[in-house]
Amino acid sequence: MEKQLTDHPAGTDSAPPGALAAEPPEQANCLDRLLEEASDHLQLQMLLIETAAGNEQADLGLIARAYHFAAARHTGQTRKSGEPFMQHCVEVARILAQMRLDSTTVAAGLLHDVLEDTPVTIEEIGVEFGPEIAGLTDGVTKIERFQYESREKRQAETYRKMLLSMVKDIRVILVKFADRLHNMRTLDHVDEEQQMRIARETTEVYAPLAHRLGLARIRWELEDRSLKYADPEKYAEIRDKVAMKRGEREAYIEEFKAPILAELKRNSIDVEIAGRPKNFYSIYTKMASRGKPFEEIYDLTAVRIIVNSVRECYHALGLIHTLYHPVPDRFKDYIATPKTNMYQSLHTSVIGPRGLSVEVQIRTREMHHTAEIGIAAHWRYKSGEGSESGDFDRHMNWMSQVLDWQRDESDPAEFMENLKIELYQDEIFVFTPMGDLHQLPLGATPVDFAFAIHTDIGLHCLTAKMNGQIVPLSTALSSGDTVEIVTSSHQNPGQAWLDFVKTAKARHSIGRWLKEEWYAHSVRLGQQMLEGELKRYRKRVESDLLDTVAQELGLADGEHLYAGIGSGDLSVTRVVNQLIPDSPKRRIRPTMKDGRGIRIQGMNDMMIHFGKCCTPIPGDTVVGLMTRGRGISIHRTDCPNSADITEDPERLVDVEWDLEEDRSFAVQLLVRSTDRKYLLSDIARVISDIGANIRSTSTTTVDHLAKQTFWIDVRDTQQLQAVIRNLTAVEGVTQVLRDEPDLSSTA
Ligand code: MN
Repeated sequence: MEKQLTDHPAGTDSAPPGALAAEPPEQANCLDRLLEEASDHLQLQMLLIETAAGNEQADLGLIARAYHFAAARHTGQTRKSGEPFMQHCVEVARILAQMRLDSTTVAAGLLHDVLEDTPVTIEEIGVEFGPEIAGLTDGVTKIERFQYESREKRQAETYRKMLLSMVKDIRVILVKFADRLHNMRTLDHVDEEQQMRIARETTEVYAPLAHRLGLARIRWELEDRSLKYADPEKYAEIRDKVAMKRGEREAYIEEFKAPILAELKRNSIDVEIAGRPKNFYSIYTKMASRGKPFEEIYDLTAVRIIVNSVRECYHALGLIHTLYHPVPDRFKDYIATPKTNMYQSLHTSVIGPRGLSVEVQIRTREMHHTAEIGIAAHWRYKSGEGSESGDFDRHMNWMSQVLDWQRDESDPAEFMENLKIELYQDEIFVFTPMGDLHQLPLGATPVDFAFAIHTDIGLHCLTAKMNGQIVPLSTALSSGDTVEIVTSSHQNPGQAWLDFVKTAKARHSIGRWLKEEWYAHSVRLGQQMLEGELKRYRKRVESDLLDTVAQELGLADGEHLYAGIGSGDLSVTRVVNQLIPDSPKRRIRPTMKDGRGIRIQGMNDMMIHFGKCCTPIPGDTVVGLMTRGRGISIHRTDCPNSADITEDPERLVDVEWDLEEDRSFAVQLLVRSTDRKYLLSDIARVISDIGANIRSTSTTTVDHLAKQTFWIDVRDTQQLQAVIRNLTAVEGVTQVLRDEPDLSSTA
């Protein structure tokens, strides 16, 4: 047998012989008889022993029948290694038996390749073994049967197929994982191209799904074995270095755990302490993503403490924190709040001997089993039920809910339906181009995905490609999508992003960024407004005085005073009156003639909005209206709503155009004409000849009198005047108006 890959205990050969002693006599008799009958089949004997060891109610007769059925059909077939094909089927079944799964699943493991590789039909299996096993073998076979044009498609399809198969019976996936695991264990025998393809698919599809289902042990082995083929050199380096460091690490853990053991013993807590297994692949990805050498990654030492009850978990945590100083902010309570893959544990980091930080995980035996085999625990045979079920049920988690449904649902179909909803209703699984999986809530968008990768990627996310196609940032992603984010240092979040993001992380980060940005803009705007206003009195702002006035108004300092003015919370007039108590009351002028207003384009768009009622463009005389929390809205002084606008003169702000940037503005034109052929195309040509752009147009014609509405983009009033002049000269045009009182604005 090949040397075990990681230094966690071997998955194979792990049947505790002691377990047999506890067998009830009937099964022991049955096992003895079957072992005798299988004297020529060493592999079957091992499988029977392992199945019986893990499950005292296992139907061993069924296992033996399935073995002989499959062995007869696969006779003469060999694998690439030259070994009999049946060996693969038994190894797959053994992996399932070692997970202590039910006999049905183990039998399906034996039969998983008969539909694919022999003439046996699903009906025959149904007749021989019943519909459950037939359904499982059929499900496993169906996942296999796909041809894909591209890697992305294959990945998405395989993923989708796996999800769909799970909906029928999650055990299909467990058999499929066992199959893949054994194929990975024997991958040396296939050619290099196939090795690469299978290794890649394993990291991209199987390992992430194993993670989601909490199949931690299978996931580690799949990842480590894939790495061996994907990057043989790095794999060998990590393997050798881990081996070299092993003695050192074990000695340290001994030193670390001695006082813990003593203290727990004094408190009568029965405990098992072990170093945490090292996953080569996770060391590898950390080295790659952090760009650090092995030595810096590997220094992290971790121990796992297994106790008997939830109460003991917290008790042990308290004792450990009195022995070693906890590292602040590293404590996580996954017992009270389990991870979505059912994982439960207490996590803490403490300062161990010689000042090294040590990660400690504390959990019950039950939690430990669930942590290793995840969802498989549901089909697992449990002895001594009840010993922990009190604690287990008290702490609400996904697993106990599932078990509750099973108790309540007499209809297995309904149970599976509930399980499906619980598993997938609220979550989607999306891949990076490198094949990393991210779990997101339903409806999540590329922006959520970008923030899930890294906050900086989210904050500068410019465009997104979904399965190779550019899509709007607000697109809802689906499971299996591969998403690529293009970032730009000039891109920043917009208020609109908050309308479509679904994750708390994205919402929080965008909100915080906008708040900081809004504050900075408010300070700048407030400063400009106050300075502009004071110039009228030929005064300058003195910072000492400003701070004093700020404090009189209940604000921290001058900067907050500016922010208050800029955000519209504080009127500039009030501040001026405070600064210059005997200032003559001045009439508010609608616009400045001497060009000292707020420079419109100098401000970020965040602070400036153009009134939809009057669509001002450069060249129009305009006035700004301070709106609370939305910055300044700009209106023409002849805005149809000007009565509303000037109602509160304290809110008026002098503004001026600033045309440094090349930008166009939308205006509406009304053109009346006597209708004729080619009229519209003549009008359109006139507009575009001047360099303006038509956004939209609508025409109504009554008795050959046409009334056309155009939304056009212009630079300024000069260009608009040119358009109006030239349109008036078009044959048939009788009137051109910029806007008409009864024109409704389009948002
Ligand atoms: Mn197979």
